[in-house]
Amino acid sequence: MNRIGMGYDLHRLVEGRRLILGGVEIPHQKGLSGHSDADALTHAVIDALLGAAALGNIGQHFPDTDPRYKDADSMVLLEETFRRVRESGYGLVNLDSCIIAQEPRLNPHLDAMRERIAMVLGVEPSRISVKAKTNESVGPEGRGEAISAQAVVLLERL
Ligand SMILES: [Zn+2]
Repeated sequence: MNRIGMGYDLHRLVEGRRLILGGVEIPHQKGLSGHSDADALTHAVIDALLGAAALGNIGQHFPDTDPRYKDADSMVLLEETFRRVRESGYGLVNLDSCIIAQEPRLNPHLDAMRERIAMVLGVEPSRISVKAKTNESVGPEGRGEAISAQAVVLLERL
């Protein structure tokens, strides 16, 4: 049996933070604010995986009130999430995702993100898709106030 899951996340863009998306650090004058490394793409992927397995959401598994997750590397959280998903009996068929950011240009970094995510999940990069688009200069992403991400995954019963 196959199961689909979706995830969404948004973080504010602020001065004095590194910009990390899909486990890749991207040169930019601002970064995303949050308790962990605020990797919005990886958080959307985590929620999509948890959603497909009906295992709750990222906040239940990795509460931001827990000091262990302060400035946490979200790729470690992704690895732990996928371990829990596999334990519940599912493997990954494929993952598709989209980052919404007016700036910086993300296209040169998308393949690196795909490779990082594929490595952490232990699958071929051909199963992982990461896209990026601007928000046509409207809304919080379009004004450069925030970056958001959406992800969908398909799981199969192992
Ligand atoms: Zn987040």
